[in-house]
Amino acid sequence: MAATTRGTSPVPPDARPRLTVLSGPSGVGKSTVVAHMRKEHPEVWLSVSATTRRPRPGEQHGVHYFFVSDEEMDKLIANGELLEWAEFAGNRYGTPRTAVLERLEAGEPVLLEIDLQGARQVRESMPEAQLVFLAPPSWEELVRRLTGRGTEPPDVIERRLDAAKVELAAEPEFDQTLVNTSVEDVARELLALTNVV
Ligand code: ADP
Ligand code: 5GP
Repeated sequence: MAATTRGTSPVPPDARPRLTVLSGPSGVGKSTVVAHMRKEHPEVWLSVSATTRRPRPGEQHGVHYFFVSDEEMDKLIANGELLEWAEFAGNRYGTPRTAVLERLEAGEPVLLEIDLQGARQVRESMPEAQLVFLAPPSWEELVRRLTGRGTEPPDVIERRLDAAKVELAAEPEFDQTLVNTSVEDVARELLALTNVV
């Protein structure tokens, strides 16, 4: 038997629930990897963001995003209801604060899939958060994926690729980098990092 146990919690430090932030350039495969992981592990809780972007075909309100008007986003920001928010390629996106804090207080791991500006804000307000960067195997492959997805017109793809250059340069700010060559491999690695297993 252990001689002493300090504090009231018997939970070892590395088993504590943690907040994991997944970022990476648009088109790298963040949604694909997260969806693959949650298909097999639906217990991993993913925050649903609010956005002013219009839904893509198949995207559902309350599942993929809360699709809100500019006025509704203004209110969410003014009322302090967002843990972080950012403008990305012409639209605003933000993480509803209460749902995240409730999950963390309940002791459950939380996953956020947000952009670089949001990741930096979370690092400021919650330094214990773990920041994971999803990188493409190459620039050419990133362009191929973003273009091949077929969800954005050419001018929006250009804006997203401009943002991608800034995001790729920020990779050293992250605690971990996963290279999205194989969806299955990255989903497994991400699952291990979220500390659910
Ligand atoms: P993000 O959420 O980062 O913007 P998506 O998940 O929408 O990116 O993926 C962008 C495109 O790349 C999609 O068409 C997806 O099917 C494809 N994709 C994702 N991961 C891989 C991979 N490992 N290999 C090949 N294609 C991929
Ligand atoms: P998309 O329009 O492709 O769904 O998302 C564009 C970018 O916005 C992605 O980098 C995505 O991770 C990011 N994003 C999604 N939700 C949020 C959020 O709540 N906050 C921030 N800062 N970025 C988000």
